[in-house]
Amino acid sequence: RSSSSADSVSGRVRVAVRLRPRNAEELVADADFADCVELQPELKRLKLRKNNWDSDTYEFDEVLTEFASQKRVYEVVAKPVVESVLDGYNGTVMAYGQTGTGKTYTLGRLGDEDTSARGIMVRAMEDILANLSPETDSVSVSYLQLYMETIQDLLNPANDNISIVEDQRTGDVSLPGATVLEIRDQQSFIELLRVGEAHRIAANTKLNTESSRSHALLMVQVKRSVSGRDDDLSLETQNRSALVGNLRPPMLRKGKLIVVDLAGSERIHKSGSEGQMLEEAKSINLSLSALGKCINALAENSSHVPVRDSKLTRLLKDSFGGTSRTSLIVTIGPSPRHRAETASTILFGQRAM
Ligand code: ADP
Ligand code: MG
Repeated sequence: RSSSSADSVSGRVRVAVRLRPRNAEELVADADFADCVELQPELKRLKLRKNNWDSDTYEFDEVLTEFASQKRVYEVVAKPVVESVLDGYNGTVMAYGQTGTGKTYTLGRLGDEDTSARGIMVRAMEDILANLSPETDSVSVSYLQLYMETIQDLLNPANDNISIVEDQRTGDVSLPGATVLEIRDQQSFIELLRVGEAHRIAANTKLNTESSRSHALLMVQVKRSVSGRDDDLSLETQNRSALVGNLRPPMLRKGKLIVVDLAGSERIHKSGSEGQMLEEAKSINLSLSALGKCINALAENSSHVPVRDSKLTRLLKDSFGGTSRTSLIVTIGPSPRHRAETASTILFGQRAM
């Protein structure tokens, strides 16, 4: 699939799988065991082992091994979405997977110590800033956390009950009261992400929960003023206006990018969990299954995308279907001990295709 706007009308979701390298603990504990998956990146296939001699094979749009660089992950998963946002469409990049498999590493890594380690959020902003004319264009961001169906502003944590408003006419989603900050350079964006992350940790300590139990959403609004003489016009018209000068006034292109670091998809064992833990688990199950239904509907090009069932899907409403683009990255770990969770993550990704 090219990144031209022509095929962005397709509702199809682009799905990549990324395997995290073995961590120190797994290198020791699983030393005598094979990884639970075997990747064939050139065939875009993944094999999930059933036992020593048998495995199930799955195909994805991209298969990213433990050696895939952050740069490559950005290029195959997010760059096409960022390009269509620059063209004035909405787009979403999300990471789904068990806690500890690399969602935040993939999306949110700041890469202070090593710029090659920067994640999708930082790289997307870098690409956006490089394509804006400072005099006429702008980019602004909001950073939110969604916990137990409550939306909190990570740039102003006192603001912890933001409501979702939909424009009756256009269907556009807005969040009155959420902080919106204009970004002028990469360094201030990185600072903003750092502040948001610190607020997230503090807020979750107060709520007595972990960040893996909430969704984090970065919303990036891009406004570009483009010359009226653009690629939408026929060559003949372009030639004519080149002769007589640019006849059309500049057009405003507005695109919104949403990057979603989803709550951990692991099943919380029902036995033993009660109270807040059980409520969290129910809430995460609700929003992830609502998301799954919407993504299935997009994959099937269905005219009805059931966004009403959760706040997560209502937040993403104007970035689903139509001319919007969606990329889903499912993250998995290699440990044979988490084979069941890995299988369920793979199936979520498969249903999106
Ligand atoms: P999640 O957000 O899904 O809970 P994290 O992104 O926090 O997972 O990753 C868990 C741990 O694994 C972190 O220490 C992270 O640095 C490391 N990690 C994840 N993905 C990779 C990768 N592709 N390469 C190296 N380390 C990784
Ligand atoms: Mg995380």
